Amino acid sequence: MTTKEVEYLVCKSYRCKVCSTTGQTYGYIKGDDFDMESFDPCEKCGSTNISFLLSVPNIDRFDERFPYFDRGLGMMLHSKKHRRQVCKERNLVPVDGDIDFSDEINKVKQKHKEEDKIVSDLNDRVANHPGYAEYRKKKAQGWKPKFTHRDQGEVPGMKKIDPFNEE
Ligand SMILES: [Zn+2]
Repeated sequence: MTTKEVEYLVCKSYRCKVCSTTGQTYGYIKGDDFDMESFDPCEKCGSTNISFLLSVPNIDRFDERFPYFDRGLGMMLHSKKHRRQVCKERNLVPVDGDIDFSDEINKVKQKHKEEDKIVSDLNDRVANHPGYAEYRKKKAQGWKPKFTHRDQGEVPGMKKIDPFNEE
């Protein structure tokens, strides 16, 4: 059984991949696919290397220019009143403008501030606290502390592993 594919003539907006010209081109859709060879080449340079642009009008949501296609609602909106109506019908709350995240950001900033304070307090203690006097004195004399792992003891039946020289 063979199905005769239906052809539609369509007009598409395009951008030329060679010279970036944009314009309109006519061609056929066969079945579900564009018949690319049937479309007019770039009107400026004649290249057939073109890509189609989405012909969605004015989706500049926050400029409030009507009508526009609202991607969230999936329909054309004609005015603010229209949008309010649609939202009301669908039990939606329209959000105007950018969502304000400054609360969250301030919380994170505050946390960073607190952590910085802990580090600077610690540094301050090492530099000034009497408990670190010996440490400071040794450091001043050129002492470079060597940090080693505490001996974890031996586990019977297990080979002792040097954590710095694992085999
Ligand atoms: Zn071109």
